[in-house]
Amino acid sequence: MPRTSDITLRQVQERIKRLYGAKDEARGASGTFLWFMEEVGELATALRGGETPEQVAAEFADVQAWLATLANIAGVDLGAAVSAKYGLSCPGCGAEPCSCPSHEKP
Ligand SMILES: [Zn+2]
Repeated sequence: MPRTSDITLRQVQERIKRLYGAKDEARGASGTFLWFMEEVGELATALRGGETPEQVAAEFADVQAWLATLANIAGVDLGAAVSAKYGLSCPGCGAEPCSCPSHEKP
């Protein structure tokens, strides 16, 4: 697969599977989830400031990569899942933009 700046979620999952699929399967969901959460923590640190925009972007990429890994292990098609839930409008109120009360999650 060539490098592209406009990669789909499915392509991310395929690339991650080719790169790390065997290791990911051996580690399993529980161990992978810990790595995912570690990356989320690194993203939080990056967003607090003091890092370059490139470093912040790289942390977003790491979180997305580990999310793709978890989806691979769980057998979830991320593109289909995101499209099914967020492809048209807010899943809570059905509007675009969201009109859910501000005290609710969306
Ligand atoms: Zn809403």
